[in-house]
Amino acid sequence: MNQYIVKAYAKINLGLDVIKKLPNGYHQVKMVMQAIDLWDELTLEKAADGIVLTTDAGELPTDENNLIYKAAKLMRDTYSLKEGVKIHLQKNIPIAAGMAGGSTDAAAAMMGINRLFSLGIPHRELMRISATIGADVPFCILGGTALAEGIGEQLTPLPPVPPCHVLVAKPDISVSTKYVYEHLDSAGIQRHPDIDGMITAIREGSLQGVLSRMENVLESVTVPAYPIIESIKENMLELGAAASLMSGSGPTVFGIFTEGAAAEYAFRRLKAEGLAKQVFLTAPLNISEELPRGSSGIS
Ligand code: ATP
Repeated sequence: MNQYIVKAYAKINLGLDVIKKLPNGYHQVKMVMQAIDLWDELTLEKAADGIVLTTDAGELPTDENNLIYKAAKLMRDTYSLKEGVKIHLQKNIPIAAGMAGGSTDAAAAMMGINRLFSLGIPHRELMRISATIGADVPFCILGGTALAEGIGEQLTPLPPVPPCHVLVAKPDISVSTKYVYEHLDSAGIQRHPDIDGMITAIREGSLQGVLSRMENVLESVTVPAYPIIESIKENMLELGAAASLMSGSGPTVFGIFTEGAAAEYAFRRLKAEGLAKQVFLTAPLNISEELPRGSSGIS
């Protein structure tokens, strides 16, 4: 196989709790992660030597500061690959948005190299080594719905959430994950999201039980700094969302709709109103739907 195309799916956090700050400066989290049907596309080709990255997203680095480059280097070093790889990234996922855009590109690069070079490395092994690139990368390899603990890398797969529609809106601001965690008073969190209750609701197939527990403690930092996030959340609820929440460290907001027609109406209205620069109507993506991750190889 000389060329391989792989989709890198974005995630949202249906629930996000921070348990405590760890002595090493990281935060211990407890989150319900959900892959969604919004993706970047990576095209991988074998090359004589080295790693060459190109992208249609001019603002992104193409050197070792790009997580794709780091992932390719990790694969070459770990599995002693002699050949090089050329990767082109077509970016659709909003950048610095709380949707794990960089992490999912790294995950896709690792899975793509695994296939391109017919390495046959099991996904669980890729997940294990990928945590050195970023705590969200193992989940991006796993996909579907999962509980993430530790610093986000300890995963428990969960059953799919009941079918629903996910409206995603990113305002024209970028939020640094580092800034948000640094400004979070984790010891002072008064109300912790009911993540255990959400897991029970997922296991019972109760969408209502999931929606009523959607909370993200990072909103306490990002929303006061960027009030537009609250405006978009309120707008989504007015437009008929059953629940709305900021994803990750923000600023992306998502709304869950039970009816497709209502979701489409809200999608058009939100785009027309201009509060958010990027708006997508998408849906949860289950593991079975992802395999073989919408990929194709060209020999
Ligand atoms: P998370 O939800 O994991 O916090 P995020 O969605 O907030 O992630 P990213 O889109 O992953 O944030 O980008 C954060 C920063 O990482 C960007 O400012 C960018 O410079 C850098 N970066 C490196 N590689 C990539 C990539 N392939 N795609 C996007 N950003 C990347």
